Amino acid sequence: MSVVDVGAFILGPEVARLEEQLAAHADVAHAVTCGNGTDALQLALMGLGIGPGDAVFVPTFTFVAPAEAVVLVGAEPIFVDVRADTFNLDPEDLLTAAAEYRGSGRPCAVIAVDLFGLPADYARLRSITADCGWSLIADAAQSFGASLGGTAVGGLADVTTTSFFPSKPLGCYGDGGALLTESSSLDGLFRSLRAHGKGSQKYDNVRIGMNSRLDTLQAAILLEKLAILENEIVARQNIADRYGACLPTDVVVPEVTAAAQSAWAQYTIRTNRRDDVAASMRADGVESAVYYPLPLHRSRAYAAFPGSNRAFPVAERLAGEVLSLPSHSYLTDDEQAMVVRSVASAIGT
Ligand SMILES: *Cc1c(COP(=O)(O)O)cnc(C)c1O
Repeated sequence: MSVVDVGAFILGPEVARLEEQLAAHADVAHAVTCGNGTDALQLALMGLGIGPGDAVFVPTFTFVAPAEAVVLVGAEPIFVDVRADTFNLDPEDLLTAAAEYRGSGRPCAVIAVDLFGLPADYARLRSITADCGWSLIADAAQSFGASLGGTAVGGLADVTTTSFFPSKPLGCYGDGGALLTESSSLDGLFRSLRAHGKGSQKYDNVRIGMNSRLDTLQAAILLEKLAILENEIVARQNIADRYGACLPTDVVVPEVTAAAQSAWAQYTIRTNRRDDVAASMRADGVESAVYYPLPLHRSRAYAAFPGSNRAFPVAERLAGEVLSLPSHSYLTDDEQAMVVRSVASAIGT
């Protein structure tokens, strides 16, 4: 109500306050909010100067946004397979993809995605990108609030992007996104790029930009939700622990290494009878979801890129086996027991 009373709907004081708190929460120097997580990826690429003639590595088993942002800035996506145990970009296949790439772009960056809330293998990715002179972008749309080796998501890559879409770990009541970085020059560039490429004065346009801002109303909502984010992640960790202990051993449950804290955007199991299990659960009145049924290299809009023309055996297998179970922070014990019973009866144990 105070946002409505004051009327500063665009870049009002709540936006600046949220940016300060996001940076503090992620322990990085700068946070810049924007319109959504897809724009955040595009702004990251624009800020790093990536465009026509460049090529960017992206995992093939993920939401489409990272590949889409690469194409929108005029660069070419090079798809990379993922690891079956983490669902995240496989650093060894990254090296294979680089060696086998026959497109026309100059490889210059990697977008790693922290799928389902688990940070990717940034130690290995940083060593590869440093050796090759590539930039490293973390798509943390599903992992804001997670950490790896004691470093919060936000400090694991050159630029980290996130989304405040309602179903993400830190969700607002509409669309929103942000970029995180240690670099003050990138911070300045992102602020210019999100506002039509403005210079020091509003109508002095010094570069080609976008119109991509977080609404003040959404910032006010996010300030409240950020304050309870840690508790919500603890609640989802408890749910994950209980699923891990109670689900039938015939399904593969997600593993999290000791060094990582997942944000648990999704709790995703694997079974080679996925469609039967989902149908049986649906008959019990239990929802589930498949993220993602089709790897990007196979989607109609991306199949023709040179970087799609390789084998991606792990992504192919995962697309047929993954099933995400109900796992939000407010799931009750009874509800979770009902999910477990439903999966067990579907599996026949
Ligand atoms: C949701 C999501 C995005 C895009 O976020 P929007 O705010 O919906 O644009 C990007 N990457 C990943 C991995 C996502 O899950």
